Amino acid sequence: MGKRIAILGSTGSIGRSTLEVVSALNGRFEIAALTGGSSWRALADQSRTWRPEKVALTDAAAAERLKAELGPDSNCQVFSGPESLEAIASDPGVDIVVSAIVGAAGVRPTLAALRAGKTVALANKEALVVAGEVMMRAARENGATLIAVDSEHSALLQAIRGGTPREVRRIILTASGGPFLRATREQMEQATPESALKHPTWRMGPKVTVDSATLVNKALEIIEARWLFDLQPEQITVLIHPQSIVHGLVEFVDGSIVAQMGPPDMRLPIQYALTYPERVDGRLPAVDLAAIGKLEFEQPDRERFPSLDFAYRALAVGGTMPAVLNAANEVAVERFLAGEIALTRIFTDIRAAMDAHTPGPADLDAILAADRWAREFTAA
Ligand code: NAD
Ligand code: MG
Repeated sequence: MGKRIAILGSTGSIGRSTLEVVSALNGRFEIAALTGGSSWRALADQSRTWRPEKVALTDAAAAERLKAELGPDSNCQVFSGPESLEAIASDPGVDIVVSAIVGAAGVRPTLAALRAGKTVALANKEALVVAGEVMMRAARENGATLIAVDSEHSALLQAIRGGTPREVRRIILTASGGPFLRATREQMEQATPESALKHPTWRMGPKVTVDSATLVNKALEIIEARWLFDLQPEQITVLIHPQSIVHGLVEFVDGSIVAQMGPPDMRLPIQYALTYPERVDGRLPAVDLAAIGKLEFEQPDRERFPSLDFAYRALAVGGTMPAVLNAANEVAVERFLAGEIALTRIFTDIRAAMDAHTPGPADLDAILAADRWAREFTAA
């Protein structure tokens, strides 16, 4: 019998790619449980294909429709509500939890998985941004293994094996630069949701695509790297790399740099997280370097993209400040996608929330309270 996987957020972009990986590695893994937010139709289809024992939706009305859709003869148990995700994440019948919910909604289920000592393949970077210290402590104290799915952090995990953690001088996260890499400030102010959703190299869910357009995604990834690799903020740097082939680089104390390359395809980092520390042939495409021709690197424009500064500031302040950065961004991105605010207002909203926030300690209650406060502050 293969290892048993629960996918939190199975109906999303990462969730669907995870199922493709599991399918390609046929027999190595089994799908024990699938969950989503409200997308009952997609979850019904996945249930019929994958026959998990348990499925859950946070939205109760959607869970009712899913139950009706699957019918009384279904062997699949249907659960609803946010707590049901925590129950699935800590279920004794689950070995690996793929955390692929978008946003801070993933904090509690991810924490439940770590507290239950699971192997957690983490795509939900917001969980680490919001509660990094709490998550890392829970992993340590309960013998859980936390493996990044994010392509940059997967690259770093792979490259770090070229030395020891103590030999790391600094790391470099790469960023494609998104659709507005060469845009003027005025063009960015006029940007429509449609133009922001046209990512040059990656196909992803809407929130992370907008985050890539503002480089807030890279800001979140700086904080994510700080926790995953126990680094000082000044050891974490960012380079723009428009081809999205080199995903992350580790510079060691001797000046040697080890990098990881792959096509812009999340199936590779997902597969690596599932089979870590092994590598297997999942019939995924490799990079054809001659076809790509050149790999370019440049410094990010910190004037047009203030996002990176927000990350360093949030890390310097610590405590609840990263949660405020994240929550203000989540609300602003939703408003931008709804056509209510300009893209550049996302920067203004994050800065305003951080300026107005009185930071508290990095314990879960204070963090969740700060998250709620920042959502109300930004929505007002
Ligand atoms: P998505 O929007 O495509 O999917 C999100 C999933 O979460 C869906 O299954 C949805 O039903 C579920 N969900 C949404 N809100 C929820 C809630 N309140 N409670 C419970 N479930 C909820 O998002 P995605 O692009 O797959 O991204 C998922 C995570 O992975 C994000 O944190 C993102 O930053 C990260 N990530 C994504 C990519 C990518 O290529 N898509 C790459 C790197 C990292
Ligand atoms: Mg990434």
